[in-house]
Amino acid sequence: MKKCFLLACAVCAYGWVEAATVEISSPDKKLVVAVSDDGGRPSYTVSYDGVVFLEQSPLGLRTNVGDFAQGLALAEADFKSEAATVSYDMRSIKRSHVERQATQAVCPFTKDGKRVMDVVFHVSDNDVAFKYKVYPQRDRLCAVVTEEATGFRFPSGTTTFLCPQSKPMGGFARTSPSYETSYTVDDEMGKNGWGEGYSFPCLFRTGDKGWVLVSETGVDSRYCASRLLGHDGGLYTIGFPQEGEFNGNGTVAPGIVLPGETPWRTVTLGTTLAPIVETTVAFDVVEPIYEPSRPYEYGRGTWSWITGGDGSMNYDEQKRYVDFAAELGYESVLVDAWWDSRVGHEKMAELARYAASKGVGLYLWYNSNGYWNDAPQGPRGLMDRTPARRREMAWMRQAGIRGIKVDFIGSDKQETMRLYEDILCDANDYGILVIFHGCTLPRGWERMYPNFASAEAVLASENLNFSQGACDAEAFNATLHPFIRNTVGAMDFGGSTLNKRYNAEDAPDHGSRRVTSDVFALATAVLFQSPVQHFALTPSNLRTAPKWAMDFMKNVPSTWDDVRFIDGYPGKYVIMARRHGDKWYVAGVNAQDETVEVKVALPMFAAGQTVDSYEDDKQLKGSLVERKLDKNGQLKLSIPKNGGVVLVGD
Ligand code: CA
Repeated sequence: MKKCFLLACAVCAYGWVEAATVEISSPDKKLVVAVSDDGGRPSYTVSYDGVVFLEQSPLGLRTNVGDFAQGLALAEADFKSEAATVSYDMRSIKRSHVERQATQAVCPFTKDGKRVMDVVFHVSDNDVAFKYKVYPQRDRLCAVVTEEATGFRFPSGTTTFLCPQSKPMGGFARTSPSYETSYTVDDEMGKNGWGEGYSFPCLFRTGDKGWVLVSETGVDSRYCASRLLGHDGGLYTIGFPQEGEFNGNGTVAPGIVLPGETPWRTVTLGTTLAPIVETTVAFDVVEPIYEPSRPYEYGRGTWSWITGGDGSMNYDEQKRYVDFAAELGYESVLVDAWWDSRVGHEKMAELARYAASKGVGLYLWYNSNGYWNDAPQGPRGLMDRTPARRREMAWMRQAGIRGIKVDFIGSDKQETMRLYEDILCDANDYGILVIFHGCTLPRGWERMYPNFASAEAVLASENLNFSQGACDAEAFNATLHPFIRNTVGAMDFGGSTLNKRYNAEDAPDHGSRRVTSDVFALATAVLFQSPVQHFALTPSNLRTAPKWAMDFMKNVPSTWDDVRFIDGYPGKYVIMARRHGDKWYVAGVNAQDETVEVKVALPMFAAGQTVDSYEDDKQLKGSLVERKLDKNGQLKLSIPKNGGVVLVGD
């Protein structure tokens, strides 16, 4: 009986029989998005070169002023599509000048004859971004979005490269979720992480056809950040934050004004990993929310905490790291936790003056809390609300502090996005750069907030200090980040240690042991992109590390003009290139037992050109030699397990 009713309904009731469909093509026509209202439910497919990458996937959202996921009709007559050019300059992302063609389209949906929602698309040659625009409903000028239908349905045989979203208020001092979980690679679909879905960005391999990266961008205080929930049948859907996040405070269902828009959902795809490594979609579709209050200076720095721990938090040791930074020609020092009680504000201002006299700026660590973590590290309670924060930032400006590192913000709720935005906005008023740690993924923030520098949102270098297991898995993880986490935003990893063991003086008898090579450390300084890099170097490295390694670390830039994928496979090895000015850096690392032996084309160099090559022998002993490309512009690279390679040439 029920079945009959549904059947009758589908045939005659609301004119759903003939689904309307519109197509949006990329400028090169290879990528095609087909949007439909099949069965009254908005949906889309994505194909590339005639191959389906996303099967019919749901669109739409449910709100407290109407259900915009069913009973809808695509108003084909009002469909609009036009060519657009995206052009902007940014020194803090993977490419300093972006110039891209795109197709912008508006797919209007009606319900009961009235336009209720648009799905707005921005399609470039290898990227699809879409967002919803919801219209006022009678006298309702605001709404709560209770659920999104938005999904991504992959063909069977697709495998996944994902890290699970943590449960709320777990981990160290109840600071999760903070995007610090381990990836599984080439895993089958049909799972849901630890029961709470997956953290963005999410990488998929559609058999031998290609690769797909799903993420989101443009998230600010006007919505929550979301995660990806796994279902059966190859379907993944947008999930809102978990109830318990932020100590239960703040809603999981974002509130929007009407007319109002959601953040962009992004899909980047191609037959190789190049479009994913090189994508700028996270920045292409967002706009600056405010102007920079001054030109911000990025750069490299030193950081005592990563090898010296809390014990290194005293004036003399921090001064020693200022001297070390100055000796390396670095731009900054990151002063980590407990400085407020162990150095104090007055002495910190003195240290800032001393550092400035050597051309070095200071970044100061702050606990983000608030009521949302139990972390005892100070300074506490200075970043959680406007009056305290602005008073502190006024002091920073007076003391000449360059930036802050705000830690332990475990939530994706809209309430938490407001905190992120408030910190960034206030910091800009005082000319201060912001790094977040123990935090969410930055979603377009480099462009939206000009003083946003970087964010952790990864199992970063601290874990190499904490556990031998993390050291043993260092190469494995390093082959993932250039394909996943770091493709959509700056990643503050804090690595490239040249210590043999994780302790302040590189003593041979304690601390977790690095199993990767010196060249590997150099390579990750190139592979991991962040406009501000605080490397895990120690003053003792000036005596103990090879001179060629320290010379490289002195000269390696932290900002880049261009990026190229060369070869690799997530979890196995990666070889990619970044350009700074006229100089190209080709960097690779290998996590596999067998040595990677590949002949690669290097079009950034000339055929027959000689380049500097930092490379490892089978025992992971590094050296600096010269290598000459062959007449076809190719070079054979050899990267042993846990080893690396870096080529530098202009
Ligand atoms: Ca952390």
